[in-house]
Amino acid sequence: MEREQYLAAIKPRMPEKRYIHTIGVMETAIDLARMYGEDEKKAETAAILHDIAKYAEIEWMEQIVRTEKLDERLIGWGSELLHGPVGAYIAESEFRIKDDELLNAIRFHTTGRPNMSRLEKIIFVADMIEPNRQFAGVDRLRKKAQKNLDKAMSACVRHTLAFLIDTRQPIYPLSIECYNDMMNRED
Ligand code: GDP
Ligand code: FE
Ligand code: FE
Ligand code: FE
Repeated sequence: MEREQYLAAIKPRMPEKRYIHTIGVMETAIDLARMYGEDEKKAETAAILHDIAKYAEIEWMEQIVRTEKLDERLIGWGSELLHGPVGAYIAESEFRIKDDELLNAIRFHTTGRPNMSRLEKIIFVADMIEPNRQFAGVDRLRKKAQKNLDKAMSACVRHTLAFLIDTRQPIYPLSIECYNDMMNRED
C-alpha cells in the first residue's frame, strides 16, 4: 500500500488532532530516516500506523492480548500501554505487513524496550518531537535528535519516565527495562 492509502485508512479511526499528530510523526520519521540511513518508506509506514489502535475499545484490545498471546502483563494497564502492541497486531492482520522491524517499531513505540533497532528508535523519538508536540524541554530533544539518535532516544526515555514519576503514574516494566538498557550502554 502507498502513503495515501494508509492515510485514508487511519483517518476515520481517530480524531482530527491525532491525525495531525500522525502526519507530524510521519514527516519527522522520514527526516530522521534520511539523516540516519534508515529505510524511509518503512519509517513512513510505521509512523502512519503507530497510533492506529489508540481509540480501539479496551475490552477488545485485552481480548487480542489473550487470543494472540501478547504479553499478559498488558492486561489492566489501559489503552496507553495497549495501543502499541495491538497496533502492531492490526498492521499485521489487517494491513498484511510482514516486516518484523516495521511491526516492532509500532509495537514498542510507547515503552521502548532493550536492544532497540534504529527504526524503533526513529519512531519512538519522532513520536515525541514531531512539530505539534508542545511541552517544556521538547526543543532540547529536537536538537539532540539532529545530532545523535541514541542520545536523543535516551533523553526521550528519561523525559517520559521523569514525567511519569512526577505525575505519580505507574511505570510499565518494559519501560524500565528500556531505561536500564540505555543506561548500561552510555559511556
Ligand atoms: P501517543 O500515543 O502519541 O500519545 O504517545 P505514546 O504512545 O508514546 O504514549 C502514550 C502515553 O503513554 C503517554 O501519555 C505516555 O506518558 C504514557 N506512557 C509511556 N510509558 C508509560 C509507562 O511505562 N507507564 C504509564 N503508566 N504510562 C506510560
Ligand atoms: Fe502512541
Ligand atoms: Fe512515544
Ligand atoms: Fe503517537
